[in-house]
Amino acid sequence: RSKAGTPNTSCLYSATMDEVEIEPLTLKTELRHALPRGELLLQYQPQVDLRTEQVIGVEALVRWNHPALGILAPGKFITIAEETGLIIPIGEWVLTTACLQNKAWQAAGLRPIKTAVNFSAKQLELTDIVDRVQGILTKTGVEPSTVELEITEASLISNIGRCKTVMKELRALGVKLSIDDFGTGYSSLSYLSELPFDILKLDAAFVRPLQQAGSSLPCFVVAHAIVDLAHALNMTVVAEAVETQEQLACLRRMDCDQMQGYLYSRPVGPDEIARLLRPMVSERFA
Ligand code: C2E
Ligand code: MG
Ligand code: MG
Ligand code: MG
Repeated sequence: RSKAGTPNTSCLYSATMDEVEIEPLTLKTELRHALPRGELLLQYQPQVDLRTEQVIGVEALVRWNHPALGILAPGKFITIAEETGLIIPIGEWVLTTACLQNKAWQAAGLRPIKTAVNFSAKQLELTDIVDRVQGILTKTGVEPSTVELEITEASLISNIGRCKTVMKELRALGVKLSIDDFGTGYSSLSYLSELPFDILKLDAAFVRPLQQAGSSLPCFVVAHAIVDLAHALNMTVVAEAVETQEQLACLRRMDCDQMQGYLYSRPVGPDEIARLLRPMVSERFA
């Protein structure tokens, strides 16, 4: 595709992919083959407990290793997957793969951790979603309490009554539920009192402005109030996209429970997670 308007049919993709819009129709067709061709992969971002400073979990994040474009972030294809319905098989592959990986780390003698998986609104809407999740838990043999399903606030808008029923049934399977990107959608506060979430993920939008140590700054006050509210509702708070020591210091002062972000680690492959979980030499001889 030529930027300057000169027809260039021999080359579907420009060399500078970051600046050029990817042909959505082409991607749509190719995404259909991505799963059967084994082009999808998961990366895992560590989640760290702020009190023990230990890695206590990971969030599984899907990537598409596109044959011509290289590794594509979910922002490039999740919407297409949702529009085409491909998010259903992709979502099931993601959950299955993440559960198997969690088991594999444990089988390798590593300390048990939880695995968070992003769940699409389209998955939540399936009438047999609870059976499907149960089927994956049974098939993989993962310990359900180590599995966390992340639901974005934006995906809850449609039918709150049905959401509530489905969420209760999912929880009855033993999995944990988290509200992802909290504070970026609508009516978030009423959802908190109505829906049974175990974990609140404080969105990057609240974490980003926490640069200075001032506890009286509005950004600190608002984030702190969310953390207090979540705690009052017996929820664990995970801060997203923590990039600086200043942000970390602020989050500690407001008693946030866990964090994930580039400050500790980017999303990485399974081997790198295994390396992070392996005890230090000094601990091994202790
Ligand atoms: P999310 O669930 O809120 O995931 C966190 C995103 O923040 C990830 O982007 C992660 O790489 C990024 N991130 C982590 N630490 C930092 C940081 O310190 N700074 C900044 N700026 N960003 C950070 P990613 O992997 O591109 O995923 C984007 C979104 O795509 C996710 O947002 C999630 O909503 C969606 N997604 C990812 N994997 C899946 C999946 O398997 N299924 C579904 N339905 N959605 C997925
Ligand atoms: Mg998430
Ligand atoms: Mg999020
Ligand atoms: Mg986010």
